[in-house]
This record gives sequence, structure tokens and C-alpha cells, in this order.
Amino acid sequence: MTIGIPRGMSFYHNYPFYYGFFTDLGIKIVLSDVTTKETMTRGASLVVTETCLPIKVYVGHVLNLLDKGVDKIFVPSIQSVAPKIYNCSKIRGLPDLIRNVVKQDFTIIEATLDKSEKNHGLYDFLYEIASQFGITDKNRIKQASKAGWRTYNNFHIMSKSGMSYKKAINYALQGKVFIENQTKEYPISIALISHGYNIFDERTSMKIFDKLEDMDVKVYSSLQLSDEQTDDGIASLGQRMYWANEREMTGAAGFYMKDAKIDGIISLTAFGCGPDSLMVERIIRNAKRYNKPILNLTIDEQTGEAGFITRLEAFVDMLFRKKRAKLINKMDINSDTDFIPNTNYIETIN
Ligand code: SF4
Repeated sequence: MTIGIPRGMSFYHNYPFYYGFFTDLGIKIVLSDVTTKETMTRGASLVVTETCLPIKVYVGHVLNLLDKGVDKIFVPSIQSVAPKIYNCSKIRGLPDLIRNVVKQDFTIIEATLDKSEKNHGLYDFLYEIASQFGITDKNRIKQASKAGWRTYNNFHIMSKSGMSYKKAINYALQGKVFIENQTKEYPISIALISHGYNIFDERTSMKIFDKLEDMDVKVYSSLQLSDEQTDDGIASLGQRMYWANEREMTGAAGFYMKDAKIDGIISLTAFGCGPDSLMVERIIRNAKRYNKPILNLTIDEQTGEAGFITRLEAFVDMLFRKKRAKLINKMDINSDTDFIPNTNYIETIN
């Protein structure tokens, strides 16, 4: 039994769970290859131009799995993750979208997760998936779900401790848990606000984590926060949650805006995303209230790396200058003296 999983959309949140679950059931997983320019171009060629980038990428990954000869592809419809908290229409209708744009002969392993529906929960979703492989023993499915949670929880323990997404996933899939000792001190800290499928896909995000690390910037994301912290972030911006992925965006932004160690916020949004444009508008308004500098980067399949880096560098440079000015003010330097501060010292100040 084999299942193809496209590296897109819920893959970036849930793969540790899917891995534990399918492996325990004896179902072999075939992943699509990492995103390339070709993945984007092929995906974009099958959908209307206005479609958001993550969906174009997802379609490209489905095509890649078909190239590999996989004939059963997992395309869940994640409607709602908590009562009255919904995903956007593209995520909810993902199986229909794929069926209509990819006109090839293959089976979509689809299942619906809708926690707003009465008497419908995760086990119904998992049962729906397993039964398509002829597995209907509920105890067996429950046991596999426990294996899924184990891998998922291990991944979250490591990523919450500050370990990079890639490392945490790799260890979790090997059944290992490590807590990294974070000893490096960074002069600047940034909160990166986006959906997992935008920032953890290295082609989509143009390796933004590595680029910021090279600029000596410590990056925080929603992965380091608990549900309580993100709920608190949403409440502190005076919002009521409606969109399922508001936790990653509004919640993380609200939480980090109040966090004194965060020098600035970068939001990374996909062109063509309706919910993001609403959320980012609110986030920018509130960033002014909290006096946090914010940079919003909108990406699509045409976004060039050079312009992207320039905007990142300019923003980081501004944060450095702002922090330096703040520290100089704190030192209460007499402007009559010809003392020229050595600004390198900020490297060692907390
Ligand atoms: S939330 Fe936005 S980026 Fe994500 S699938 Fe929906 S429209 Fe696309």
C-alpha cells in the first residue's frame, strides 16, 4: 500500500502526524520532490492566474507525484479545525480543485476534517482515510493515530525549544527528541509572520530563514508559540478568530508585538490570498500602535530573489540603526564631546 503526499499546504503543519499514522498502518509514503521553479510553473499553468501561490505550488507537487508513477494521492479537505473556525475556500475544496484541474487518471485519497460539524472529529477523518485502504478496524486506526501524535508532539517539543523546522522534522521522523542549547546571541530579533506552507517551503520563501541568519538576525515564528500564547495574541489585537490559520498570522503577530525582545516584524504573504490581505491590514495597523517596525513581503511565482534580498537587507539595516540610536540615547552622551561611539558594541549587549 502506497500513498503519495504532495509537499504543500497541510504537509508543512501535519507531516509528522501523517508520517507516524501512515507508517504505523503499514502504508508506504512517497513524497513529491522539493519545490523548484518548474513545480511552480507547471502548477500555475493549470489554474487561473489569480490563484494564490501556495495552491499553484500544490498543483505542481501533485503533477510531480504522477510523474513518479504514484496513483493514490492524499488530498485532504480540512474544513474546520475547531468549532466555527474555518479554513479558506481553497483549502476546504482542495480535493475538488485538484480533480478539476489535474485531468489524469489517479485516485484521490480524500477525507474531510470538519470540527464545526456535530459528531465529526479527527477519528472520523482518520477512519475515512484508512478505510480507502481497506482498514476498518477502529482500534487499529486509534493505535496508528497515537503513533501520529507521538511524532507530531516530538516535532513540536523541538521546534518550540527554538530548533529549526528542518532539523526538528528530521529528528521527529527518526523518533528522536533533542533540545538544543541556544547559546548564540543575536543583536536583532525578528518575528516572521506567515503560513507554514509559505515560510517552510524553501523555494517559496527563498530561504528566508538562512538569509536572515546570515544577516545575524534571530528569527521567531508561530512554531515557537503555544495555542494559549497565540490566543492571547489574537485577543490583544482585539480580534475574534474566524480563519483557521489566524493563529499563525494574527495570533503570532499579536503575541510578538508585545514582546520587548522583538525588534521588528516581517509578514510574508502570497499574492492572491484574500484572508491574508485582511489579516495583514489589521497587523500593520496594530504594529503602529505597538510601535513595532513592520515589513510586508508579497510573493508570487514571478518574485525575483534580488529584489527580495534588497528589501530584507534594507529592513534589517533600519532595525540595526534604530537599535543603535536607542542604545546611544540610553548612554546619555554629551554632544559637546568628540566621543564617537563604537557601534559594534551592540553585538554584545542584550
Ligand atoms: S489562506 Fe490564502 S494562501 Fe492559503 S490557500 Fe487560502 S487563499 Fe491561498
